[in-house]
Amino acid sequence: MRLFSIVLLLWMPYIAFSQNQSPPKPKLVIGIMVDQLRWDYLYRYADKYGEAGFKRLQKGYNCENTHIPYVPTITGPGHTCVYTGSVPAIHGIIGNEWYDRDSRSVVNCIGDTSYHTIGASSREGQASPNRLLTTTITDELRMASSFHSKVIGIAAKDRAAILPVGHAANAAYFFDGESGRWVSSSYYMDTLPKWVNDFNAKKLPAKYAAGNWNTLLDIKQYTESTPDNEPWERPLRGEEKPIFPHMIAEAVAKDPGALIGTPWGNTMTLDFARAVIDGEQMGKGAYTDFLAISCSSTDLIGHQFGPNSIEAEDGMLRLDHDLGEFLSYLDKTVGAGNYIVFLTADHGVSHSQGFNREHKMPAGSYQGDSLVKISNAFLRQKYGADSLIERYTSMQLYLNYTSIKQHNLNAAAIRHDLSEYLLTIRGMAKVIDLSEVTTTSLPAPYREMLVNGYNQKRSGDIQVVYEPGYMEGFTKGSTHSAVYSYDSHIPLLWYGWGVKSAHDYSQIYMTDIAATLAAMLHIQEPNGCVGKPIAGLMK
Ligand code: ZN
Ligand code: ZN
Repeated sequence: MRLFSIVLLLWMPYIAFSQNQSPPKPKLVIGIMVDQLRWDYLYRYADKYGEAGFKRLQKGYNCENTHIPYVPTITGPGHTCVYTGSVPAIHGIIGNEWYDRDSRSVVNCIGDTSYHTIGASSREGQASPNRLLTTTITDELRMASSFHSKVIGIAAKDRAAILPVGHAANAAYFFDGESGRWVSSSYYMDTLPKWVNDFNAKKLPAKYAAGNWNTLLDIKQYTESTPDNEPWERPLRGEEKPIFPHMIAEAVAKDPGALIGTPWGNTMTLDFARAVIDGEQMGKGAYTDFLAISCSSTDLIGHQFGPNSIEAEDGMLRLDHDLGEFLSYLDKTVGAGNYIVFLTADHGVSHSQGFNREHKMPAGSYQGDSLVKISNAFLRQKYGADSLIERYTSMQLYLNYTSIKQHNLNAAAIRHDLSEYLLTIRGMAKVIDLSEVTTTSLPAPYREMLVNGYNQKRSGDIQVVYEPGYMEGFTKGSTHSAVYSYDSHIPLLWYGWGVKSAHDYSQIYMTDIAATLAAMLHIQEPNGCVGKPIAGLMK
């Protein structure tokens, strides 16, 4: 007995020491991407937000000056950058879709016909992360925990659910508009868990839409937005005018996917997030779990009505409310202080062209696809050969090298001549031969965005950069993809476990998010990470 006590005493310091060696960990990490969230939305509608949503998160560490370091500033690359800490040049997700020279077809960033939908008969689930070339922070967490940490991605948009959770996720779930069900891909599983089927059985889309879309507050209070019926807003399908109330009940009954174009797409996503946490007991085990959420509806609303619309503001006010409820749910189930939340965006959005013009600001648009026709006509005249341009995707033209060879033409000369010619089109700021992108005469931050977005294997040959305020298509509504701050300046809020309370106005990049998570969790950063930890935020 005494001997045992002595042995125990001798061992005590060692036990205490080895316990100290293992750093404390949060129970759960929640990544919230808000699709098409301009940084200024945090302040623009601040008088109307409650205390429990955005304002609560802003009490954590608020990175006020966070920018996207590449183009195009769109959804697939955005979600990938946040979770890989990397850029399209390395992670390979150069667009939502791009032209694949080998198959001579346009491929979707997550499209993969070797997998099928789990939970519905549509083709929604023909998807995988197989085009992603690097690991994600969530992959690193899985590996660091010998695959004990649970990692799940959810979003109405498939790519926004799949890309954040990388290759080794337990699951990604997304919304199948055809059936109105949350589904997955056979990449992850053979059947949906019971809790997903239970959630689907509630048939929530019809319930959310039942009351149609009226403004949350009296419509007269939306003084931060333009009047309800502006000519640059696009009516919803089946509507004559883009005005409240939007009669969404009937639209959703016919097509459940229509719900995603309303604020309730986000409500449903956050309700589903609770079902995931309950169903998978996330944040309850000995290992840190990770739930990657993306709220897609803000993007659809912005594309439809533009960022100055009452619809955009109403979407934000409702999201603020839903976020508040979600955070108080996390307090109850995981425990305040046991979880980290970070909230950011995949990109911002431009003002609508009509709005810009009305206020005498430069604006315009052109049809990207028409560039192929214009370019081929020019090259036919100059070089006497047809179809020297194969395709245009994500602001890049792809040369037809087979034809160039057949006609014994000089590709570099073609790139040079065509770039000069396209620059004469109204609204073009710069047309760049991508093989010379590192030496192009642009201010360094923009040049770096182009270099970071250029993947030698997947990208095209000539990049067009339009002037500020110019966009492709969207003569009504609005869009994003540019190098400019309206698309590249994103919010970044950190809250909870291990996070200090402060505003940080230093230059931070989207690539720093994954590096920071790696530092906080004491795990290796993703293998293509080019960001660095935001040192100031850690307690
Ligand atoms: Zn997006
Ligand atoms: Zn978008």
